[in-house]
Amino acid sequence: MKKNIKIAIASGKGGTGKTFISTNLFNALQKAGEKVSLVDCDAEEPNDREFIAGEFLQSFDVTQKIPVIDESKCTYCGKCYEYCNYNAIFFLGEQRMIRVLEDQCHGCGACSVACEYGAITEKDDLLGAVSTYKVQQNSNLIEARMKVGVHSAVPVIKAAIKSAVDADVVLLDSPPGTSCPFIQTVETANYVVLVTEPTPFGLSDLRQSVDTLKSMGKRCGVIVNRAGLGNDEVFDYLKKENIALLMSVPFDKSIAMTYSNGKLISNESPEWENKFSQLFKIILQENGNSSN
Ligand code: SF4
Ligand code: SF4
Repeated sequence: MKKNIKIAIASGKGGTGKTFISTNLFNALQKAGEKVSLVDCDAEEPNDREFIAGEFLQSFDVTQKIPVIDESKCTYCGKCYEYCNYNAIFFLGEQRMIRVLEDQCHGCGACSVACEYGAITEKDDLLGAVSTYKVQQNSNLIEARMKVGVHSAVPVIKAAIKSAVDADVVLLDSPPGTSCPFIQTVETANYVVLVTEPTPFGLSDLRQSVDTLKSMGKRCGVIVNRAGLGNDEVFDYLKKENIALLMSVPFDKSIAMTYSNGKLISNESPEWENKFSQLFKIILQENGNSSN
């Protein structure tokens, strides 16, 4: 049965186990024959490929249009400067000085439309690349990777998510934090899995992520990683807020060793493969999908 669900796996900060959950859930699903794509949206530091082997299929560049001003045609009217909402044009009319601040430019094209003197053309600026790897017949890994020094990962993340077209189940390994790249990733998801740790820092980040998702009207559930490490405050918070506890992963040396060796616990242990399969069923139930 076609499930058609997009699940984002996110956390308020890095290092909580988001990649551990994403890669193992993907692995359990692909082993079960699901038509599944894992999109590594952590475009600054994508690392799902360290755990998931795949055959390279294709790659494409993600670019944006950057204006180029021909000062021989420019009348220094300042209209482009007025139209730019991102302060990406430096303009001193009296001194007849105008520059495009490429790092600030969002490629919206407003300045080109505004210029009545044909002084603005556009060039392509490389932002990053999206690569696809075939893992099994029905499953693939899509990696978003932004170019070093680019100010925003958002266009590369958008392009990567858009290329996950053939799968019934799309897993989005989200960038950490709650800023634009996170928003862009979870915005397209039907359901968000938040991964946290039972520590005061973990709880503080979790609260922030939950508040952000509530304001977006997104359904979410929580996985507590390294359970037993800290205190019960996270669990109390989930009960109080009526947020589903989807799974607890114990603080266990063998799990940590497996992960640090670049291996998947869902390959090493049938018990964990089954737990990740169950996790998917719980997510479907929470989201109101049929699990059959
Ligand atoms: S393309 Fe948009 S963001 Fe860039 S300089 Fe022009 S108006 Fe500003
Ligand atoms: S709108 Fe065109 S002519 Fe006017 S300042 Fe900008 S580039 Fe120059």
